[in-house]
Parts: sequence; C-alpha cells; structure tokens
Amino acid sequence: MTPFPFSQSQRGYTPPRPIKVGVLGATGAVGQRFVQLLEGHPWFQVTALGASGRAVGKTYGAAAGWRLSADVPEYARDITMVEGKPGPEWDCDIIFTSLPAEIAGEVEEEFAAAGYKVFSNSRNHRYDPDVPLMIPEVNPDHSNMLAHQQKGRGWERGFIVTNPNCTTIHLVLALKPLQDAFGLKKVIVTTMQAVSGAGYPGVPSLDVIDNVMPHSFDEEEKVESEPLKIMGRFEENDPRFEEALFAVSATCTRVAVREGHTESVAVELGRTATIEEVAAALTEFEAEPQRLKLPSAPLHPVVLRTEAHRPQVLLDRDSENAMATVVGRLQKCKVLDYRFLLIGHNTIRGAAGASILNAELLAAQGLII
Ligand code: NAP
Repeated sequence: MTPFPFSQSQRGYTPPRPIKVGVLGATGAVGQRFVQLLEGHPWFQVTALGASGRAVGKTYGAAAGWRLSADVPEYARDITMVEGKPGPEWDCDIIFTSLPAEIAGEVEEEFAAAGYKVFSNSRNHRYDPDVPLMIPEVNPDHSNMLAHQQKGRGWERGFIVTNPNCTTIHLVLALKPLQDAFGLKKVIVTTMQAVSGAGYPGVPSLDVIDNVMPHSFDEEEKVESEPLKIMGRFEENDPRFEEALFAVSATCTRVAVREGHTESVAVELGRTATIEEVAAALTEFEAEPQRLKLPSAPLHPVVLRTEAHRPQVLLDRDSENAMATVVGRLQKCKVLDYRFLLIGHNTIRGAAGASILNAELLAAQGLII
C-alpha cells in the first residue's frame, strides 16, 4: 500500500497552504514514528523538532538514536533540535507531543496557551472534562468541545486534543461497529502488549524475555475508562461528554513482542445478533475519515480475518499501513455473546498515526487554519 491510500484529487478538502507542524518528544518511540509518518505528507510540513535538553542544538540525525527499520527520513536529518518551550523557533500551527507523563501536562498547556494546536499522546489531559479524547472513526463530533475549551481557559487560538492509550484505540475500533449495530452491555478484555508501548529503552529484557508480565494498575484503569468517554455522546447544549453506559473489565499484560498489541475480547451485545451479522458489522464499518478520504485514513479501519490461525501480531500489525485493527477468531462465547482476538500496531495506529489522523480530521473540519 502507498503511505497515503486516498489521492488528493479524491478529497473534498485541501488546505489553503501547507500546515506547519512540530514534534515534541521527537526522539522517542512515538516521536520517531511521527517523523517517519510525516515524510511526504500531502498537507503537513515539519518545521520544528524538539526533545529533552540533551538533544537541543544537535541535528535530528545526530540526536535521534534512530531505531526504526528504514533510515532517518532525509527531510528531518538536518533539522536542529529545539527546546520544549513555546517560542519563535516553534514556527508551527500544530504541535504533536509524545512526552513522558511527568512533564506532558504542563508543557502542553503552555503551548496551547501560546496559540498552538496541541495533539497529545500522553495521559495527562485525557480525562479533562473540556478535552476531547478522539478517534476520528468513532467520535469526530467531539471536536465541538474545542470552542468551549478555548473560551473556558482563555486560549484564543490554541487547544489540546488527546488520543487514547494504544490498547484502547484498537479495542474501541473493534467495539464501535458493534455498538452502532447492536448496542453493547459488557466487555471483557485481556491484553498481550508489546514492549515498545513502554517507550525506549522500556521494559528491561531480563524482566520480559521468557515471561508474561502483569501490567501496572493504571493501564487497566485506562482501558476500562477511556472507551466510555470516547464512545459516549457530546452534549452540545450543556457542553460535556456523556459517558457510554457499558462496562469494561480489563486485564493487561506485557509480552516479549517488539511492536503490536494483541487483545482477547468477549462482548455482551445490546440485542441478539447472528454471527453473520456481527461479521458484517465489522467488515462493513466505514466512518468519517474514509468518507472524507483523509490522507492517513485506512481504506478499512477494521479488517476481519477468517483463517483459523489469524490474526497474528507478526503477520497482521502492518495491515492497511498499520492503521487498521485486525480482528479474527470471531466465535460465539459461552459466557458472554461473542469473542474474538484483535491485534493492532501500538506506535502507529496506537499513537503517532492516531494523532496525525486526528489533526487531519480537524483540518478538514476547518479547525486548524
Ligand atoms: P519515550 O520513548 O521515552 O520518549 C520520550 C520522549 O520525550 C523523548 O523524545 C525524550 O527526549 C522526550 N523528553 C523527555 N524529557 C523531556 C523534557 N524534559 N523536555 C522535552 N522532551 C523530553 O516515550 P514514548 O513511548 O515515545 O511515549 C511518549 C508518550 O506517549 C508517553 O506519555 C506515553 O505514555 C505515550 N504513548 C506511548 C505509546 C507507545 O506505544 N510507546 C503509545 C501511546 C501513547 P530525549 O530522547 O531527549 O530524552
């Protein structure tokens, strides 16, 4: 697949000028994905890259410690790294952030107050009542909160949009078609998450090789609560997010996989459905990014595999440019209604690709320039 599957001529929207973007946290596991995915982007032009103090003043090529399979993209190699504070060196409309949670909250607010559109990967602002937690296929209307966020916080042009945890994104992409078609009552999920989800250098090899590690408590809390905000309703008259009413029970583990999360899911639906109906809901799922033909949108956000041995993280994580959630092993469940296995790329659709798609959606909604 080409990196941008829909052509510009198919799209209804083209920005009036290139949209200038910066990446803060550009040397990290997610930051390197941003730099990779933004190469040749039809709307976005990278004008600034930043990381911690140790990188400031170096070229990106020298500072990155590049760990992805292809080389550092040519366009980024000679960009001089800047400090993570708003200022003229951040000549951008958008800042994509992938910072440790210890510092992300405050830094992102500083950038938004200074007029930047901030797209965050960190957990800090995900539950703020005025901050959208977005997946473009699921809740594109939640961006309507941004006018209220700006008014409430006194920010004239800037705002903060967050994307969910890498595990939540793939779970919700698979649940949304089921919620739309049948309603949802209960979800039980057990995850087997890749080590790159912990950033670089991440989990010590001696802890994870030959092992399956229970995840920290707050990962399970995130996977249980984020879907309810994302799949809930935006209440325009009394601006707030009304949470969805189904319940999620999550057990999260870390396994010795480099990239790609696997999730074993069981669901109780709101009404009776045949397995053919469930399969059709998943395969026919198409949403706003596909209708708008956004540059990074997958042609199919959910791919259903019917072979007994799929999905496998090694074989399926790159499906649809690593922007799809791949579901398989769909079968009746003896406890709830249906169960299935899903896999999804954690640093692409689960992080950098998710932020970029959010920014493309907001650009097409006229909220960037
Ligand atoms: P990471 O590999 O540890 O990268 C962290 C980045 O932040 C590096 O570029 C680092 O720069 C930079 N940084 C650290 N301290 C800084 C400071 N004081 N000022 C400016 N930059 C600073 O982490 P990651 O996995 O990319 O995760 C980043 C965020 O995304 C986290 O909040 C994480 O929870 C979230 N997230 C991660 C994933 C994933 O799959 N990895 C998925 C979804 C969300 P130096 O290289 O200079 O230290």
